[in-house]
Amino acid sequence: MTVTHNLGFPRIGAGRELKCALEQYWRGDISREQLQAVGRELRRRHWQLQADSGMDWIPVGDFAWYDQVLTMSAMLDNVPARHRHGDAAVDLDTLFRMARGRAPSGPTVSACEMAKWFDTNYHYIVPEFEAGQRFELAYTQLFDEIEEALALGYRAKPVLLGPLSYLWLGKGRSRDFDKLQLLTPLLQAYSQILQRLAAQGVEWLQIDEPILALDLPADWRQAFESAYNRLQQRDLKLLLACYFGELGDNLGCAVHLPVAGLHIDAVSAPAELQRVLDRLPVHKVLSVGIVDGRNIWRTDLDKALAQLHSAQRKLGERLWLSPSCSLLHVPVSLDGEKKLDWEIRQWLAFAEQKLAEVTALAGALSGGGNSAADALFADSRLALASRQNSTRVHDAAVQQRLQHIDAADRRRYSPFAERKHKQQQQLQLPPFPTTTIGSFPQTTAIRQTRAALKKGDISAAEYRRTIEAEIATAVQHQQALDLDVLVHGEAERNDMVEYFGEQLRGFAFTENGWVQSCGSRCVKPPIIYGDVSRPAAMTVQWSRYAQSLTDKPLKGMLTGPITLLCWSFARTDQPLRTTADQLALAIRDELCDLERAGIRIVQIDEPALREGLPLRRAGHRDYLDWAVASFRLASCGVKDETQIHTHICCAEFNDIIAAIAEVDADVITIETSRSNMELLAAFEQFQYPNDIGLGVYDLHSPNQPDVAWMVDLLKKAARKIPPGQLWVTPDCGLKTRTWEETESALQAMVTAARELRQLYPSVYHRL
Ligand code: GLN
Ligand code: ZN
Repeated sequence: MTVTHNLGFPRIGAGRELKCALEQYWRGDISREQLQAVGRELRRRHWQLQADSGMDWIPVGDFAWYDQVLTMSAMLDNVPARHRHGDAAVDLDTLFRMARGRAPSGPTVSACEMAKWFDTNYHYIVPEFEAGQRFELAYTQLFDEIEEALALGYRAKPVLLGPLSYLWLGKGRSRDFDKLQLLTPLLQAYSQILQRLAAQGVEWLQIDEPILALDLPADWRQAFESAYNRLQQRDLKLLLACYFGELGDNLGCAVHLPVAGLHIDAVSAPAELQRVLDRLPVHKVLSVGIVDGRNIWRTDLDKALAQLHSAQRKLGERLWLSPSCSLLHVPVSLDGEKKLDWEIRQWLAFAEQKLAEVTALAGALSGGGNSAADALFADSRLALASRQNSTRVHDAAVQQRLQHIDAADRRRYSPFAERKHKQQQQLQLPPFPTTTIGSFPQTTAIRQTRAALKKGDISAAEYRRTIEAEIATAVQHQQALDLDVLVHGEAERNDMVEYFGEQLRGFAFTENGWVQSCGSRCVKPPIIYGDVSRPAAMTVQWSRYAQSLTDKPLKGMLTGPITLLCWSFARTDQPLRTTADQLALAIRDELCDLERAGIRIVQIDEPALREGLPLRRAGHRDYLDWAVASFRLASCGVKDETQIHTHICCAEFNDIIAAIAEVDADVITIETSRSNMELLAAFEQFQYPNDIGLGVYDLHSPNQPDVAWMVDLLKKAARKIPPGQLWVTPDCGLKTRTWEETESALQAMVTAARELRQLYPSVYHRL
């Protein structure tokens, strides 16, 4: 019989129970015991569900109160001094202080950093390291949960983040410090963990080393061998799990490590299965991740089965099956979806359905004869055929239009210098022009209005009046502040992707398809299931209304194709670049409509541009080529006089600055305040040709920005970038702030810009 197992289950709960309980606990509405009871109940429910789905081994340790990397830090006593509470032992509140800077007990201090978990939309809490530090077992959550699962009678397989990935994902407090120096003390602690698990009666341990899917420096690759030699335990079998991409040049290293089994991701790297089979030592188990753990499409079971046959012939009992990675990245179950269109629903599989697919594949490998598995195969065939032929998916008009796109559609008419001149003649902006990134505070009243419209409690006309009133308020505030380029404030938007997705063909929305993004925060990504088109204008009425209230230029606000793509569940039946281009055409049409409606400046936000970068360097160029080409398709349909802005919110883009220049937006606004203009180092090596808006204040900080500080930042910038190229902006949208904070911060920002105009009077002449 083929063994089935799961790498991890979504912990947040189908009804986001963990989120609710956490937030109640943080507010002081429930006790720690009550919170713990919610966690226990979720674990029990999820273990049972996985056992019922036919999993032979149930993961334990995938549950986390906030994040699995954070749990690992606590377990190893890797707790920064500022997060400790006197001599108190590491406990739940320690975790929360590290993650959020505060907890019901202990001091309020700065939180640890958060970073993206590989190329997913999940964020982990970054471990902090310093030279010479020690590790010891300080937090027993994993052992307690193993106890709990064993007592309930489950075949528990603990899941642990491996030592090299743990080290890699952390950051050293001082710059010139080699994290690998910490490997020896770290391995001592890991050895203790393994001994303790063995003593608890654990047979298999899943040890995750996802960094094996990255480009590793030679010394890191070598470190794997010595580390895993050290970690051998007589009574414990290790299953080394790698996912999110191919092992590539790490394959030799991975197959030969002294462990009992290897897990590979055969969804993201299907061609690698054969190479691994060719090189896997004869005694080892191979777990093949055959069901996509990151996307929501139903598996083509026939194809998957065909892929597995040679593995089964070669491995026999040593073949294990599972999803490709932890199911953390998909919603819990389709059962919660009552409103989803039936045709689309049958194309999908969420966590629970994915486990059934794994079981069905294992059943079929063992000779079939299982009616539930046969039924699932039949359903899979039907769903696939329906998806291949459905008119909801395939829109000939969209496909034809895309075929006729040529290079000219991805180019502005004139080079930037000419455009800048024409735009300036129209716009008459002062030097160091000021603007914002788009959203203004989303008050409770605004949220209630949107909810009321959805429920049908207010009419469309009433909704429109209320939103227009909000727009008018935002415009008044901006006039009073004397900003140079105004925005309408985005009161009508709940979310920058959902707002557009809801109005585009080819998108579907779930009721309960929640995925954990970080801690208690969850997102409900839209599903792009078909060719994308735009039946009607999406933003024009709001922008036109806002522009009618002011003589100053009002900036239209769109979300770019790459962000729409990266923050959705994407199609796998066509290349990402094709979906991106379809999205680009829809945005291009909207842009042209805005231009026709008299909007002279439009911003196309691409906060996810950097995020979409593939894990391996070898894939970067290709990605950047198509991503930039899509952005240009979205933005190049307008006259020279129309000014295109784009906003990219990330603090690190030295490696993509050349690509950002190729985007050829007239103005790009970037986040600079948090890195204290460190980011500008990129502009020393690279002469950025177009205009740049510098995000001079960090709106995530509750502290008010200081005028002198902003002036100083801008002066620093003006030494590296010609002052005639600079704009002054906050570093992101203001929707999470209050009006009070927003007003005084923007006031200070405008004052800083005026001072700059005094300091650089000659810039006037250039314009
Ligand atoms: N225009 C958006 C806003 O202001 C941009 C948000 C973002 O960059 N994430 O909210
Ligand atoms: Zn931003």
